[in-house]
Amino acid sequence: MTLSSEAAPLGEGIYRITLPLPFPTPNAVNCYLFEGDQGLTLLDCGIDGDDEIELLNRALAGFGFALTDLHRLVASHLHVDHMGMAKRIIVSTGCEWVMHSSTAAEVEHYNDWDHRRNELARLVEEGGAPHQAVTRFRREMTRPAWFSEAIAPTHPVENGQRIPLSPTRSLEVIFTPGHQANQVCLRDSRTGRLFSGDHVLPRISPFIPYTGEDQDHLGAYLASLDRIVGLDVHETYPGHGPIIEQGSARAHQILLHHQRRLDAMLEVLNERPRTPWQIMQSVFRPNLSFLEERLAFQETMAHLEHLRRTGRVQRTLADGGWRYEKWKVEGAGTSYLRL
Ligand SMILES: [Zn+2]
Repeated sequence: MTLSSEAAPLGEGIYRITLPLPFPTPNAVNCYLFEGDQGLTLLDCGIDGDDEIELLNRALAGFGFALTDLHRLVASHLHVDHMGMAKRIIVSTGCEWVMHSSTAAEVEHYNDWDHRRNELARLVEEGGAPHQAVTRFRREMTRPAWFSEAIAPTHPVENGQRIPLSPTRSLEVIFTPGHQANQVCLRDSRTGRLFSGDHVLPRISPFIPYTGEDQDHLGAYLASLDRIVGLDVHETYPGHGPIIEQGSARAHQILLHHQRRLDAMLEVLNERPRTPWQIMQSVFRPNLSFLEERLAFQETMAHLEHLRRTGRVQRTLADGGWRYEKWKVEGAGTSYLRL
């Protein structure tokens, strides 16, 4: 086995285990372990694989624990780098399986890779991508070897619910949809530390998806960032990367980043209506890899749809695809509503 992991005690009965990921970036995921009266609680578990489970076992053994000590597994959200190993762990240990209650309705769709690929290819086509790009989406978005089946939580949780570690200590569930519709953060009642999953990350801004016009993922994300700003949290432990000293300040920084991106898109639309694909090419750097292009397209759509829902742009159908333009005041000629 050539893969390696890192493990470190964080004090107050909390440990961090960092497991490798088969992606260039992020190339590792942080899993957090909490001691409790009934056994261990593990937050997030990485990609499924024989090497990965062995790394997890070794890291647990390094702290004097075993997988059988797990009382519950929590996943911050329904992404494979955070819950890939969940089915294997739950089947082998019988531990509680905890995710936000909205997850159960999404598991079937999540597991249907072909459906998701075809949906995205359709959205890319509607977004004005050239034929060659659409074909590439259909051809290259094949199900990767590391993709594992998700299962619905046995113990769904709600915003504000407290996951007990002992009679005097709990992990508070803070529902923060946006990066993913089921994303939660956990706040430790004893230390005030926030465990942010992918909601608040250091250095990078989490990807915001577009899954069709029925969801405003960016609007949800901005509201969830506001929630963290309002909590005035300091030490924050993310799903990827090092500790964030000032979690609420970092959430505010990410809010500003999205504000700038929204402004950049409105700027592009000053000249004339454009397709989402053209807007993506204006706002993101050139020569993106296929994966980067896929993410950039969804981010562009998430921003445009948020602008549309908040009355700043409008969308028209032309030549079988969408065009966005600044929202014109009815009957006011060429003037635009300024918001
Ligand atoms: Zn992640």
